[in-house]
Amino acid sequence: RYAYVNGRFVPHGEAMVHVEDRGFQFADGVYEVVTIIGGKLVDERGHLDRLARSLGELRIAWPVAPHVLKLLMRRLIAQNRVRQGTIYLQVTRGVAPRDFKFPKHSDSTLVMTTKRATSFATPEQLENGVKVISIPDIRWLRRDIKSVALLPQVLGKQRAVEAGAFEAWQLDPEGNVTEGCSSNAWIVTETGTLVTRCANNLILNGVTRLSIIRLAKEAGIPFEERAFSLEEAYRAREAFVSSASTFVMPVTRIDDHTVGNGRPGSFGERLRQAYLDYASGEGAS
Ligand code: PLP
Repeated sequence: RYAYVNGRFVPHGEAMVHVEDRGFQFADGVYEVVTIIGGKLVDERGHLDRLARSLGELRIAWPVAPHVLKLLMRRLIAQNRVRQGTIYLQVTRGVAPRDFKFPKHSDSTLVMTTKRATSFATPEQLENGVKVISIPDIRWLRRDIKSVALLPQVLGKQRAVEAGAFEAWQLDPEGNVTEGCSSNAWIVTETGTLVTRCANNLILNGVTRLSIIRLAKEAGIPFEERAFSLEEAYRAREAFVSSASTFVMPVTRIDDHTVGNGRPGSFGERLRQAYLDYASGEGAS
């Protein structure tokens, strides 16, 4: 297996960045995770658009032109013979003597790795759904930037694992769910409306989220983009999370509450199928 590091394809075990890389020193960088199905990239356009936005907000220069990045991703996927899995790419402000302010001169660092996956969800997860716990959202207020500063998410995921859960839903000070640690949060209300939080600085606007919204609208599913409370989620008919690597994952337990009848619901199943069809069809490139 190979990794890409600043212009070179190197054996994974020898892939390294400098100790004074600002990604390492300050988490001064951004990333994307793109799913690969049938050797093709899923929703590449959405991920590159969001990368452009993250870089722009932080005033980090593109490490290579976007069309070159596309070629490099494909070369790494081909070289590692990944038919199904994910590609991770990280861009940092580059290497410079340690100092908080932006360096006058630095070349952005680009690192890419791939991961194979035999499946994106276990049969058990799809059959029974997963559990999520709720935790306070202790992150900064620019969650719209896909920053590599992920310590709150690391702590949140660890709490989830220790509670036997798949994900942790983060709560704002009003008690509304912002999103998962690495996924967006969705519910289907008691009256059958699909709800997910609106995308502003308080959540990461998932690329999968955007595709699901479009697919739901196309399918004529009643949809509202708004905040929802933990209590509303407890009472929901259905719940699920979305991300590039899980698509639509049914949630059947939130803290100590059973969601709906405790089984994955029909809205989630429909949207998962619609997303899978899209991801292996027109959404792949
Ligand atoms: N929200 C957060 C905080 C995330 O880290 C992620 C993905 O890692 C998502 C949402 C889902 O985004 P996407 O669908 O683009 O994977």
